[in-house]
Amino acid sequence: MNKWIYHFKAGCAEGNANLQKLLGGKGAGLAEISNLGLAVPPGFTISTEVCEYYYKHNSILPLSFTEQLAKAIKTLEQDSGKIFASSDNPLLLSVRSGARASMPGMMDTILNVGMNDEIAEKLANISGNRDFAYDSYRRFIEMYGTVVLDIPHYLFEDSLELNRLQNDDQTDLPLKIIQDYKKIILKYTAQEFPTDPFMQLKTAIESVLKSWMCDRAITYRQLNDIPSSWGTAVNVQSMVFGNMGESSATGVVFTRNPANGNKQIFGEFLVNAQGEDVVSGVRTPMPIISSDSLTSSMQKLMPELCDELQGICSSLEEHFKDAQDIEFTIEKGKLYILQTRSAKRTAAAAIKIAVDMVNEKVLSKQEAIMRIAPDSINQLLHATIDYSKELPILAQGLPASPGAATGIVAFSPYDAEEMSHHHKVILVRNDTSPEDIKGMHVSMGILTARGGMTSHAAVVARGMGKPCVCGVNGLVVNESDGLFKINGITVRKGDEITIDGSSGKVFVGRAPLIQPIFSEEFKILLSWADEVRTLSVRANAETPLDCASALKFGAEGVGLCRTEHMFFDADKIPLVREMIIAPDFERRKKAIDKLLPLQIQDFKELFRILKGKPINIRLLDPPLHEFLPHLEEDKEALAGTLNLSIATIHNRLNALHEVNPMLGHRGCRLGITYPEIYQMQVQAISSATRELKLEEGITTTLELMIPLISNVNELTRIKQIILQEFEGEIPFNVGTMIELPRAALMAENIAKEVEFFSFGTNDLTQTTYGISRDDIASFLPHYIEKKIFEHDPFVEIDQEGVGELIKISIERGKLGNPKLKLGVCGEHAGNPASIDFFHKIGLDYISCSPYRIPIARLAAAQAKIKSVQN
Ligand code: ADP
Ligand code: MG
Ligand code: MG
Repeated sequence: MNKWIYHFKAGCAEGNANLQKLLGGKGAGLAEISNLGLAVPPGFTISTEVCEYYYKHNSILPLSFTEQLAKAIKTLEQDSGKIFASSDNPLLLSVRSGARASMPGMMDTILNVGMNDEIAEKLANISGNRDFAYDSYRRFIEMYGTVVLDIPHYLFEDSLELNRLQNDDQTDLPLKIIQDYKKIILKYTAQEFPTDPFMQLKTAIESVLKSWMCDRAITYRQLNDIPSSWGTAVNVQSMVFGNMGESSATGVVFTRNPANGNKQIFGEFLVNAQGEDVVSGVRTPMPIISSDSLTSSMQKLMPELCDELQGICSSLEEHFKDAQDIEFTIEKGKLYILQTRSAKRTAAAAIKIAVDMVNEKVLSKQEAIMRIAPDSINQLLHATIDYSKELPILAQGLPASPGAATGIVAFSPYDAEEMSHHHKVILVRNDTSPEDIKGMHVSMGILTARGGMTSHAAVVARGMGKPCVCGVNGLVVNESDGLFKINGITVRKGDEITIDGSSGKVFVGRAPLIQPIFSEEFKILLSWADEVRTLSVRANAETPLDCASALKFGAEGVGLCRTEHMFFDADKIPLVREMIIAPDFERRKKAIDKLLPLQIQDFKELFRILKGKPINIRLLDPPLHEFLPHLEEDKEALAGTLNLSIATIHNRLNALHEVNPMLGHRGCRLGITYPEIYQMQVQAISSATRELKLEEGITTTLELMIPLISNVNELTRIKQIILQEFEGEIPFNVGTMIELPRAALMAENIAKEVEFFSFGTNDLTQTTYGISRDDIASFLPHYIEKKIFEHDPFVEIDQEGVGELIKISIERGKLGNPKLKLGVCGEHAGNPASIDFFHKIGLDYISCSPYRIPIARLAAAQAKIKSVQN
């Protein structure tokens, strides 16, 4: 018979940390720390297989499960010394969701299951604490009502508020609240509140299973690539009570600071409260440890328990070899651990923790490298605010997630989505709940009036790598009127603000930003990555600025210099137009002669920055019409310079018009029909190299690349042009882009003529699929949603199709030229999953945009480590 249920209690458990798949993250974690002997309230985990069964069988639970559940309750009664559904010594339960991958707050949990009037009264007697008993009962009905019966939460909140306001000495307030809650349930569901604890338990379990398919969980899975087939486990656990008075409390602690990685425990707690109070941000909690003497803290209020907690933090960290995020509850002076998981953290913190742990001899360098998701490094490239300028501060909140962002204010997730189509948006809320994640996803940053550093908004924003400011005192958000007020100032929907998630400051309008500097740990980690990786990393760059930042980010050279980008400068574009429109060779030559010295200067500047590092220069690639004038005044100016009538200019423009320019007169096709353009470029390159060598002693490592080859004859023709201009002693390599399927197939012939291939994976993807990258918006989202395409092939390389062409081309290319050098210069070269593939198929280098260089260095190291491990 199938085993559906796994027990755990302090000192022993049927599961362990390796059973994540079966028990979910929370269940496996609870089992593991139970085995370690920590004070975990006893309980059992209903495996993910039950969830799977439930969804496969029309929302029906397996028969044998019901039997096993009854037995499990008996065992739990023995372990806890309390009896479920008994009014003598009642056992109350928490029913908690817990998927394989952590999905914080996305699914449901119900606390204090197993309550009714009789049991509440008994609990009041046994505990001698009627407030506690009725507080727990109230919380139960509220959670049961919202989670299981789907009643809007505000109905309970409003009722509670009203009762508290109208309180007089005659009424029994706790009882009155319960009665009102039951009325809400009756009114809303036309049924009485269920008083049978077994019924409560079964429906609670089922609603946790159902929450796997709730909208916010589905959205979260989509955003985080979690398969919906995994299912959730359900943890049923005996309750411990943080709401039994001043010696009871509940809290969350991180073993290291999740924002900056500092090795110091960090967290928040609330006295006389239950766990959900901390997470929801309804009450603003106090810190576990505070550095100043004014702020109250757990360390000050409960020093011994704080020490005990610190001890648990370090032993759990040692055990799991990673920073942990731990939930705890104190019941009348006894500390219980309710959950541990690897702590979500910012990229900066992740790097600091990984490097520190290598120094602490907990991790190896390679393990540290594998710990960092390459894409998360993006966060570190976030700008910060330049505080050297005087800035009027609008508000001060908690620095919940680092980075600075400017945007216009939206007050609802719906507005945020709408406005984000055309604007950068800052989402401003009283507090956020899981319903808001889509709105958070499209926003540049998040500002909430309430909530602490572990509130929903803070945790989710850190995970998304977005700036977030929480808990702003005095901030009043009025969503329905579309405004917020603070310190006498009103900010309306659509107004621009800037938030600084690193300092918690908020500004009206746009604040000046400074670009990020790398931390020591970041440099160290990247240097470890460089030791490991075998794939070279170069940059796509053509301006001096890009070139310099690429080198700063660790590029080993330029893998793609798009010469046409140099043509768009204000001083060159009129000359380029003159060159294109010129009706005869003489006039074209005149324009080219004026362009030449400018191009020489451009190249010299780049070569000077590179100081001998290789540069791959691609000759002019795009269709000519991209350079042509659209404004009448530009056309007239051109007519003047060329001494032509405006009608002739129009005729030339019409003649140059193409139906499908991307497949038209571009790349080497231009070089063949207008050889003087390529001649000029090559001459500029060779002069720049020669002059720089003479003047400054710099030897440039040159690679000249010919775009859009499909036929070897194109190549030989253009090579002739190049060779003519390069007489003399300057060494250089000639290579070609492989960006058309035909070129990939003809690789053997082509390779005989060149020293290198560079795979232009953008064009190769377009031409292999027959999809224009600029026109995908109308159908690709649909394709991804319906899983017709696994990924956007322009973001992650299509290994099966486009990748196959690349493999064929490498194989055939090496037949033609065994020394052939291989690189990639498409957008994919900055995408970690694609980099893994490029490493596997044996490329020599990847070339991506300067800001992705650190990501590429790390991803290349991970690719190497993975390939060695396999
Ligand atoms: P989530 O995955 O959203 O964090 P949890 O299942 O961890 O949900 O539960 C939410 C809160 O309920 C936790 O913060 C915890 O403090 C509280 N809680 C859960 N189980 C118990 C229990 N057995 N006793 C006391 N509090 C509990
Ligand atoms: Mg939790
Ligand atoms: Mg191309």
